[in-house]
Amino acid sequence: MADFSAPAATSVEPLTIMGAGLVGSLLSLYLAQRGHEVTVYERRADPRKAGFVEGRSINLALSDRGWRALEGVGIGDEIRRVAIPMYRRVMHDQQGNLTTQPYGQDNQAIYSVSRAGLNRTLLDLAEADPRVHLRFNQQCLGVDLRERQLELRDAETGQRATHAFRRLFGTDGAYSAVRAAMQRTDRFNYSQSYLDYGYKELNIEPGPGGEWLLEKNALHIWPRGQYMMIALPNLDGSFNCTLFFPFEGEKSFAALQTPAQVQAFFEEVFPDVVPLMPDLTQEYFQNPTGSLVTVRCFPWAFDDDVVLLGDASHAIVPFYGQGMNAGFEDCTVLNELLDQYGTDWHAIFEQFQQQRKPNADAMAELALYNFEEMRDRVADPRFLLQKKIESK
Ligand code: FAD
Repeated sequence: MADFSAPAATSVEPLTIMGAGLVGSLLSLYLAQRGHEVTVYERRADPRKAGFVEGRSINLALSDRGWRALEGVGIGDEIRRVAIPMYRRVMHDQQGNLTTQPYGQDNQAIYSVSRAGLNRTLLDLAEADPRVHLRFNQQCLGVDLRERQLELRDAETGQRATHAFRRLFGTDGAYSAVRAAMQRTDRFNYSQSYLDYGYKELNIEPGPGGEWLLEKNALHIWPRGQYMMIALPNLDGSFNCTLFFPFEGEKSFAALQTPAQVQAFFEEVFPDVVPLMPDLTQEYFQNPTGSLVTVRCFPWAFDDDVVLLGDASHAIVPFYGQGMNAGFEDCTVLNELLDQYGTDWHAIFEQFQQQRKPNADAMAELALYNFEEMRDRVADPRFLLQKKIESK
């Protein structure tokens, strides 16, 4: 009699991943640990090499579903070393009064991690596996789905080349080139919608002795009704702040055109934090303004040849802190299906998209809803029980 408790048989084959971001680099570990030879193409240069220029890194909140995925390939401890637990939200009102809300019970927390640091660690771990072959500076220009061929452009030489693939995993983010090829297939549903809000990264400096000048183990929020700022702790004592702000209107990115306007605005609405941001106006004008998109599409698979994971299939706005976590969970679920269905890639891809799509849609809705909660309702004492801990 067949033993259904044992994982189904797998056969080893060369696999291709497009995009060595957070999800692609984690996925390469999952697939390599199953014995596959995995080639990962990435548009950018290797972020671990000297001379790589990157903007100030966004910090991300890593939560349970993300940890499960990291632990699934045995790298939870490596990442824990660079993560800071945040046990609660701390809300800053306009007078500098602080109130808090716990994220869970006792020691439950979400964790602050640097996106760039996490990506570099995942790449190091992937590269340590001899079955993972990382190819940087390779931009995917197009995918011929029927011929199973990729067109790549080498960013250093400018040369274009065609590569055959047998199975392709599209983890190339919200503006996925792999998805773009699938969009041209029959009955492919696709939508993207932008918020009228953008975001800007700012920084709170560490204290003179490298200490955290706000409560370290917390996610800080300055809710202001129609907009907000948040801050997540870094290991070096600084905080990474993100201002979520309308593009247009009376209080908006468009309205703040000069250093004096920025300074005056921050002093009025975020007065307690201004003394901790000595480079405020310089950073404000230097750092780009990002936009916030929700991408929905279906199907996520093309036959048993191509499948999309992470932001390529479900980019969401960041207010639920779950975009990366959901992408990591894609890896967990795909791995479970590989256990279950072995070499039946058709069943694996089909089950994957059927299981994940409703979850991704729910996450997209929650993320949009949570924006209102974070920027507005967390400041409303009628909405949530608040504990006053300090007033200036
Ligand atoms: P990406 O991280 O975008 O990686 C895609 C990779 O593919 C990149 O390396 C890119 O260079 C490469 N690529 C793109 N196009 C090509 C091409 N044509 N050829 C080759 N390579 C290509 N998520 C959370 O879970 N928690 C948070 O707290 C959180 N906060 C966020 C805050 C902000 C302001 C934003 C914008 C997002 C936040 N997210 C958060 C979401 C999270 O950043 C994404 O969900 C996550 O990065 C998705 O990972 P990915 O690997 O799918 O895509």
